[in-house]
Amino acid sequence: MNAYIYEIFNSIQGEGIYAGTRQVFVRFCGCQLRCGYCDTREARARVDKCRIYDRYIDNPLDTGIVIDAIDDLWTPSTRHISLTGGEPLLHSDFIKELASSTPVPIYLETNAGFPEYAEDVADLIDIASCDIKLPEHRSTDDYGSLLSAELETIEIFHSRGAETFVKVVVLQETTEESITSAVSGIEFIDESIPLILQPVTPANIDMQQLLGLMDFAGAYLSDVRMIPQIHRMIRIP
Ligand code: SF4
Repeated sequence: MNAYIYEIFNSIQGEGIYAGTRQVFVRFCGCQLRCGYCDTREARARVDKCRIYDRYIDNPLDTGIVIDAIDDLWTPSTRHISLTGGEPLLHSDFIKELASSTPVPIYLETNAGFPEYAEDVADLIDIASCDIKLPEHRSTDDYGSLLSAELETIEIFHSRGAETFVKVVVLQETTEESITSAVSGIEFIDESIPLILQPVTPANIDMQQLLGLMDFAGAYLSDVRMIPQIHRMIRIP
């Protein structure tokens, strides 16, 4: 099984409930969305070569090469393989083969727009970081369908035993009204699923706005946190 991969590298997870954890990142090419704040635009299309530390290898890569690269990049403090993108679930068959070939815990970062692929891999995922996009992210022309797909994906990972949390990027124009459907949708699945409100980078969000959004979401959900992108703060990949 082959996949187009943008890069493989070892770094610190900068987002969500595992922020600060050392991981080997496998960044897949391709994404079906076009979020206005996207900070990995270069990975939304296929590239001819994958960067692995200081080497470039012809795409597509097979799982054996990726496993070897992960082994080479592993360090004593590394804890997970992070599957990111782009949108990694576009490569669900590859993920199944990769995850079946290693005992290392698998951390998935997904825009959650493909519940059919989530069904395929859910039993192999240890931690699922699932986005919910907001209308103001301008990720798609059909926001209602995307939100339904994201909530279905979150339910699949949560019900199949993956440690699941939700990440919502907060923009200046984000309001209680614009997060209502996301928050009530998570509550309907399980009010204990953590919700991470992540200020867009560079953070130019008013603290009163963030605190207000936290309190609004906290009336529905038991675990609401505000976590900025720490990798951008310390300027690492
Ligand atoms: S889902 Fe992620 S990779 Fe895709 S456009 Fe949005 S931010 Fe970028």
